[in-house]
Amino acid sequence: MSDKIERIKTLIIGSGPAGYTAAIYAARADLKPVVYTGMEPGGQLTTTTEVDNFPGYPEGIDGPTMMMQLQSQAERFGTEVRIGMITAVEFSTEVGGIHKATVDDSIQIEAETVIISTGATAKYLNIPSEQKLRGGGVSACAVCDGFFYKNQDVAIVGAGDTAAEEASYLANICKSVTMLVRKDEMRASKAMQHRVHNIKNIKVLYNTEVDEVLGGQVVEGLRMVNNVTGEKSEIDITGLFIAIGHKPNTDIFKGQLDMDETGYLITKGKSTKTNLPGVFACGDSQDKEYRQAITAAGTGCMSALDAERYLAAIETPASVA
Ligand SMILES: Cc1cc2nc3c(=O)[nH]c(=O)nc-3n(C[C@H](O)[C@H](O)[C@H](O)COP(=O)(O)OP(=O)(O)OC[C@H]3O[C@@H](n4cnc5c(N)ncnc54)[C@H](O)[C@@H]3O)c2cc1C
Repeated sequence: MSDKIERIKTLIIGSGPAGYTAAIYAARADLKPVVYTGMEPGGQLTTTTEVDNFPGYPEGIDGPTMMMQLQSQAERFGTEVRIGMITAVEFSTEVGGIHKATVDDSIQIEAETVIISTGATAKYLNIPSEQKLRGGGVSACAVCDGFFYKNQDVAIVGAGDTAAEEASYLANICKSVTMLVRKDEMRASKAMQHRVHNIKNIKVLYNTEVDEVLGGQVVEGLRMVNNVTGEKSEIDITGLFIAIGHKPNTDIFKGQLDMDETGYLITKGKSTKTNLPGVFACGDSQDKEYRQAITAAGTGCMSALDAERYLAAIETPASVA
């Protein structure tokens, strides 16, 4: 441990669209933010080749380039971006209290405000052929990538509400959607099941799992296995969507911040305020509903404004102003 502990105004944990947007706003409000990038500098978008739906890029842009531009924009106003992982936190429960964080299990840092933008990680099946074709037709985001499979045959894996929602989204764009459900029934609400079963170009296969994703550089087909009979079958598809859930990257906040049963941070009302004063949460770490770059950026902006107002209220209490 270094002996002199650095104290900053605003610590931003995470470098995705939420973190960098928070940094742009915080830096311009003179909060001198420090961003720790974590294990995936630039966040989830660095794993995708084409972002077509972020406003301001009429020709689309590849994810890594977009994230480098967001980083440059944040740095232009004085944000300090550091490579490092926040491995532990000790948040103050007092208004005006100082929050402590540990970087890479070794360095201590103190902050007057903390913005959490640690995102979420999509779950995959983790079979070799699926991993090999990630970005080559295997995607964990139908709303992001469905458009690229317009009028094509695709499949989706999952049985919950999100999978059902994404299957109906894909059915609007694609020629056919084969939905693989591992059990003999869906977990999705009855209403969502009803919706899926009423869409003509969705075919639901129960007791069915992925045996292998077929294709060399891009997805060309799918070998499926019926987990009751053991029977294998193949279909031709160009896209495979995995919709088996996300895990928010919030483990280090457990026991200190309010979160739901899956680990999504809970924020108050329309704000980004957590249950602790001076600690704010934005992006996918607190959003299981929309999970898009633009919504993450929007809440990143909100968190910087919330942090700025929090500090202003401490420095100039209402009774004095
Ligand atoms: C394959 C794919 C394609 C997508 N395509 C699109 C698209 O076309 N359009 C769109 O709008 N959305 C798309 N999305 C969704 C979009 O990427 C996310 O909604 C968005 O990135 C969420 O932003 P975020 O800043 O909340 O978190 P993330 O982008 O997940 O970033 C989280 C950041 O937190 C860091 N971090 C985590 N834990 C720690 C820690 N302990 N200490 C320090 N840092 C930490 C990570 O390293 C990372 O930098 C896609 C997602 C995927 C997976």
